Amino acid sequence: MKGYYKADPWSIVEEGFDPAMQQASESIFSLGNGRMGQRANFEEHYSGETLQGTYLAGVYYPDKTRVGWWKNGYPEYFAKVLNAPNWTGIDVEINGEQLDLHTHKPIEFRRELNMKKGYLERSFAIYAGDSRLEIAARRFLSMKRDEIGAIRYAIRSVDFQGRISFTPFIDGNVVNQDSNYDEKFWDMESTKAVPGSAYLMARTRKTGFVSCMTMCYTLELNGEFLQPEPDVVQKEDFVSNRLQLELGQGEEAILYKYVSVLTSMNHKAEVMVDQGIGILIEAIGLGFDKLLEEHAAVWEDNWAHSDIIIEGDTLAQQGIRFNIFQLNQTYTGKDERLNIGPKGFTGEKYGGSTYWDTEAYMIPFYLSTAKEEVARNLLVYRYKHLEKAIENAEKLGFSGGAALYPMVTMNGEECHNEWEITFEEIHRNGAIAFAIYNYIRYTGDRSYLASHGLEVLIAISRFWRQRISWSEEKKKYVMLGVTGPNEYENNVNNNWYTNKMASWTLSYTREELENLRTEDQEAFDLLAKKTGLKLEEETDAWEDIVERLHFPYQEDLKVFLQQDGFMDKEQLMAADLDPEHRPINQHWSWDRILRSCFIKQADVLQGIYVFEDEFDRETILRNFEFYEARTVHESSLSPCVHAILANRIGSYEKAYEMYLRTSRLDLDDYNHEVDEGLHITSMGGTWMSVVHGFGGMMIKDEVLSFEPHLPEGWKILSFKILYRGRTLKVHIEKKKVSITNLEGDGLDFYLAGSKMHLDQQGTVFAEF
Ligand code: BGC
Repeated sequence: MKGYYKADPWSIVEEGFDPAMQQASESIFSLGNGRMGQRANFEEHYSGETLQGTYLAGVYYPDKTRVGWWKNGYPEYFAKVLNAPNWTGIDVEINGEQLDLHTHKPIEFRRELNMKKGYLERSFAIYAGDSRLEIAARRFLSMKRDEIGAIRYAIRSVDFQGRISFTPFIDGNVVNQDSNYDEKFWDMESTKAVPGSAYLMARTRKTGFVSCMTMCYTLELNGEFLQPEPDVVQKEDFVSNRLQLELGQGEEAILYKYVSVLTSMNHKAEVMVDQGIGILIEAIGLGFDKLLEEHAAVWEDNWAHSDIIIEGDTLAQQGIRFNIFQLNQTYTGKDERLNIGPKGFTGEKYGGSTYWDTEAYMIPFYLSTAKEEVARNLLVYRYKHLEKAIENAEKLGFSGGAALYPMVTMNGEECHNEWEITFEEIHRNGAIAFAIYNYIRYTGDRSYLASHGLEVLIAISRFWRQRISWSEEKKKYVMLGVTGPNEYENNVNNNWYTNKMASWTLSYTREELENLRTEDQEAFDLLAKKTGLKLEEETDAWEDIVERLHFPYQEDLKVFLQQDGFMDKEQLMAADLDPEHRPINQHWSWDRILRSCFIKQADVLQGIYVFEDEFDRETILRNFEFYEARTVHESSLSPCVHAILANRIGSYEKAYEMYLRTSRLDLDDYNHEVDEGLHITSMGGTWMSVVHGFGGMMIKDEVLSFEPHLPEGWKILSFKILYRGRTLKVHIEKKKVSITNLEGDGLDFYLAGSKMHLDQQGTVFAEF
């Protein structure tokens, strides 16, 4: 589908309507505001293939686990992101006939996601008999008032004369396509529809979340308000007002629909209707244009911090902006109960909310582009789940305060249920530990360690200690039966990446405990008491593991081995795979995948990226060449890491190829699945591929460093980052780079290999 969406630096544009692309476009044109979001389903009725999706942050359903062979330790349920009642609907009739783009073939169809201002617009013309009507719908979910959505739906007659009706509605009759038992997830609580407004209140089964959606509208004919008497429908799960009017040649009718969307995450059910109406009165008072203006102002501010400018390559520019846009509309960091699901607000798959993706791929973006508390809230989210992570480990037979964080979770409980991932993909614990360190080295906020971080680190270290065992045969510690990031290998021994994360956690926890003991005895004592820490006994054991943990290594090739026995596999190259067989996960049996050497996503290379400054260029090069050749990138999380490392080793063409693959993964549908939703968490990786990759940003021994490189064809790469209270602007041109300290104290750092000092408000230049 390359080239389906038009290249444009600030917009995603679809021209012409192709029903086969409808579900892909519903994903691509999704909107969100951190509090809610939805797929770009049409307002009016559509009888073609569609995936309806309206999502409310934090509202989920525990869908009873469905597996073939139950294993002890499996969670009881899988937490599903819920498809919530549909509030965007506006049915349209033209001379009594329902408008449906599946049957009324639209012409001059155009859809545009305006990323600068954050709205979606759709326009098309249709013929009613021989008469032409032009329709334009614009909508947004307010970033400023995150419980308001607004739609402007305009019908202009060119030479039509006849009856039009608009029926704005809220529909509670919704299902999840991925429901395990075809159950409905919502019970209706109450509905009411009166002329001019309506509400629908629903409650999720089992979890008891309440949502209340309230709508009102205004209608204009040729700029004048109209108040036709509506036909009011109030059913148990549906409310609407049907408004009819006569439309003459050259006339235009516009319906403005305003909706407030409240949930029991933030409101008491008893007062939700009143509060919803209150919010709507505000919205209608301001009007569509004003609401849009203030919404666009929030976007302007977002872009001021987080935009990345690429001149000379429109596809690359559009790709990065699309990723940044999606990141900002998925998570705003205001609420520490929320996290970021792999599909954000754009689809059902990966129903649970939180994966290791957040720590491994999202934290760097938010650290650099948003206030400190945004990344901190993501850490606090895990801190608050610590008790559950300890319970989770206990269920699996661990003890003494060892914590295993879940692979997928909404509320801290594990809800993933494939044994090879649930029980074995334990490297997630490492990412959660590393994110604490990442936050601290980036922000300098060391107080987080004593207040939260060390508790988590101790519990994770305890887990590693118990999960690692002694091999008499090897005279080394080993970690058996794990799944690394590369999920095309299960139940392997000594996954290099997992061992590396474990060993690092043990050292870091020990070091920070020592630091705390010397810096703040009182805080240390409190922590030791709270966690029951036996400092010497525990840290000595951790140190022993660090010193004698086995890391598989292939001597003749001088590469770190992904796991014990990896070289027993037939060593095939991804480039030699029959293109018809790709993606292999859609063409090969699972058995064949497991036996092959093909790698789903960065695994050893993931570890090299995380601990980059431990390795020299030759080591990175050897490992990159070995693993890249075997990698099929069938996880969206893979190309970004390859783009970064390819930059490090000077493999610039590969870096660019991988950059396009990550930044345009959804726009060009590399993985043949964009219809299911967007890959939101890999978008954090896309940002990393530019800033850490082409910008070459790293923190080396507490010092910020940039090793820039500009791909062929790029004239300028420019971005801002926030770093320890400063705002730095990095501007890269061919062979030249400048860094300006826009705000904050002076700073020492490395630029293209040289140590430099940047004064307040100062600029430094370098050549590379
Ligand atoms: C990847 C995991 C990832 C998950 C959610 C899987 O395909 O292999 O690493 O956590 O998707 O993004």
